[in-house]
Amino acid sequence: MGSSIVDSVKLTVQIRLLPDATAQLALGQTLKLANQAANLVSDVAWQRRVFRAYSLQKLTYSQVRSLGLSAQSAVRVIKKVADAYTPNRRTKRRFRSDAAQPYDDRCLSWQPDQGTVSIWTIAGRFKGMPFVAGDYQRKLLAYRKGESDLLCRDGRWYLFATCEVPEPTPITPAGFLGVDLGIVNIASTSDGDRHAGKHLNRVRHRNQRLRGKLQKKGTKSAKRLLKRRRRKEARFAADTNHVISKRIVAEAERTGRGIALEDLQGIRGRVRLRKPQRATLHSWAFHQFGRFIGYKARRAGVVVVLVDPSYTSQACSACGHVDRANRQGQADFSCRSCGFAGHADWNAARNIAERGGAGWAASTSRTRTGALSPELQARPRPTVDDSARQTIGHGH
Ligand SMILES: [Zn+2]
Repeated sequence: MGSSIVDSVKLTVQIRLLPDATAQLALGQTLKLANQAANLVSDVAWQRRVFRAYSLQKLTYSQVRSLGLSAQSAVRVIKKVADAYTPNRRTKRRFRSDAAQPYDDRCLSWQPDQGTVSIWTIAGRFKGMPFVAGDYQRKLLAYRKGESDLLCRDGRWYLFATCEVPEPTPITPAGFLGVDLGIVNIASTSDGDRHAGKHLNRVRHRNQRLRGKLQKKGTKSAKRLLKRRRRKEARFAADTNHVISKRIVAEAERTGRGIALEDLQGIRGRVRLRKPQRATLHSWAFHQFGRFIGYKARRAGVVVVLVDPSYTSQACSACGHVDRANRQGQADFSCRSCGFAGHADWNAARNIAERGGAGWAASTSRTRTGALSPELQARPRPTVDDSARQTIGHGH
């Protein structure tokens, strides 16, 4: 399809830093001071009702500098505060002592070939600080644009770099790979591949039990532990989603097909669950999966179509007969009308693939020239956070 939409995807690439003990201390003190300064600027902004970066800078710059921040960091701090007030000015903004601090090219430089950065701290500039990045992340770093955020999570140091990656033009698909999302199997394809989430579900159950215990305790250390657990689980879920979505996109790309997914908004309503299962159905994990598929597909030039999710599990993918009794259990599908039988998730994925093809045909026939208009390029709807940003962690 002769579509010539020049577009780019904004990605946040997460890079882990490996500072030595001295550098860690310096980074920690820098964040602390930067956020102390941010709170001071926020006080002024709130009291004087001045929220624009330029005006705030006139009011607070010298004071912030006198705390020990460099000229550039002082400007970044003031801008951070101004940005924090952009959504609304109804509540006073406070910054935690470990809140992320933006760095621009003057306080931070990258040496991707050496795998190092040179970064300003209040204890001086640290040169040759190593970072870890996979090949893919390194490639993305070539598109780095603007600021990076420095932050510390669970004792690990990271830079979140903003990258603007140009998008390839979508390739006209030769059929669709249908993907059914579920709980027992995180994703099942119309080709019959099932990506199980056994390990992930185990981690979740274990954490859930632990959570119950710790919540009862309610102590400070219990809360801290809970928080750490939650983050770890989220990281694990994201890793799983990355791995599976990557495989699916690679398979679609290899076979020249598009990807059909259920409209994610429909997932919650469709799946009826007993109570213990409900906790495992973190809708954000499904949304995240959809987003991962979405941006990985866009980068690969693979079309993604969202389809109506109704009856995908009850309809027969061979003859179209819809009957609740077709589905005989969690895993088994057996058509009452034609006798077609198979794994229930596979049957659903086949239905999704077919709807994807039908949806695609309908959308392309509506355009006279045959070129896709932007709104017809089925893209995942904005989901949990409706920004177009994705975070790329190590090894994805
Ligand atoms: Zn049938």
